[in-house]
Amino acid sequence: MSNTGFLEKKIEGLKDEGVYRKLPILEGANEAEVVLNGQKVINLSSNNYLGFANHPRLKKAAIEAVEKYGVGAGAVRTIIGNMDIHEELEEILAEFKKEEAVMVFQSGFNCNAGTIQAVTEKGDLIISDELNHASIIDGVKLSKADKAIFKHSDMEDLERVLKEKRENYNNVLIITDGVFSMDGDIAKLPEIVELAEKYNAMTYVDDAHGSGVLGKSGRGTVDHFNLHGRVDFTIGTLSKAIGVIGGYVATSKSAQEWLNHRGRPILFSTSLPPAAVGAIIEAVKILMETEEYTDKLWDNAKYFKEKLGKLGFNTGKSETPITPVIIGNEAESMEFSKKLKEEGVFVSAIVFPTVPKGTGRVRCMVTAGHTKEQLDRAVNAFEKVGKEMGII
Ligand code: PMP
Repeated sequence: MSNTGFLEKKIEGLKDEGVYRKLPILEGANEAEVVLNGQKVINLSSNNYLGFANHPRLKKAAIEAVEKYGVGAGAVRTIIGNMDIHEELEEILAEFKKEEAVMVFQSGFNCNAGTIQAVTEKGDLIISDELNHASIIDGVKLSKADKAIFKHSDMEDLERVLKEKRENYNNVLIITDGVFSMDGDIAKLPEIVELAEKYNAMTYVDDAHGSGVLGKSGRGTVDHFNLHGRVDFTIGTLSKAIGVIGGYVATSKSAQEWLNHRGRPILFSTSLPPAAVGAIIEAVKILMETEEYTDKLWDNAKYFKEKLGKLGFNTGKSETPITPVIIGNEAESMEFSKKLKEEGVFVSAIVFPTVPKGTGRVRCMVTAGHTKEQLDRAVNAFEKVGKEMGII
């Protein structure tokens, strides 16, 4: 007999609230148009910003890496060591990000959870934006440092915390998302860096949604604001714009060496498989060769956002390709997503606890891979369902 009956009750609760979800099944690769449970739909739900997840050059590089290195890394790197392909990846990422060194983790989540914990200790203070990603929140929880939260992107509130608390601590680490994943707004990084310099604090930017999107050739938020050399830790994912899997921190050589000794996902979890590493290296090479993909992404995103705005949808304060359509009520957001799917548009509802209660939405992720014709069809579906439901 299982002892998990209490979970069944909790699931019933989710059903009562109208927020229970069955995961859709994707048949085939992640592209601009996909087959979901047998239905062809326009895909506005993936973080595959540049269309790299099914790019022929990345696939070829993955296959070549498998032929040469096999399918698994074999053990954690502190036991077996790195393969030369893992070293090559960290070097090319450091060059791309214009930073001294890079440490690659198995995911963006792991990278935040492992890095924050490793670079802070008792006697330190972490100051975190209230809307930072869940993996930052978990990383902060794992740290032995004290914690403080500042109001979202509110520089007066950040300075208030620094003024009140700075002198009581050894190191202080200010953490922010580069691009906030649910609203698409960009952190006020120049002001944060200035405050950090004024109060002698370190800075940490989770650029999961800025990498491959903002800055020259997608070098990220730090590049967008030309702050190279002034941010201590820049996190990126390899699962979104890069299209594969993994996360990394771009930082100083000494911080990278420290993470090699004290980053728990580095010490206790096996490195990325060679296929992923080969594909990621190829993706970075493409970005270093051309701005074609980032340009197309921004062009598509502006086109789509403008059309939704003209129809009267509330797309919030997004400054990036992340395009939320804010509904408010959780169940209504789920219903909106369901009806859009019936019209051939796949866009996930995002509800509590991913966003605060009462700010339910569907979040549209336009990519470089969409055609204008696909975006027009999606807009038409939004208009039809939006009118039917009285949202516009
Ligand atoms: N940080 C942010 C801001 C994210 O949006 C995500 C992904 N949802 C992550 C970290 C985790 O990245 P990954 O999916 O590579 O683990």
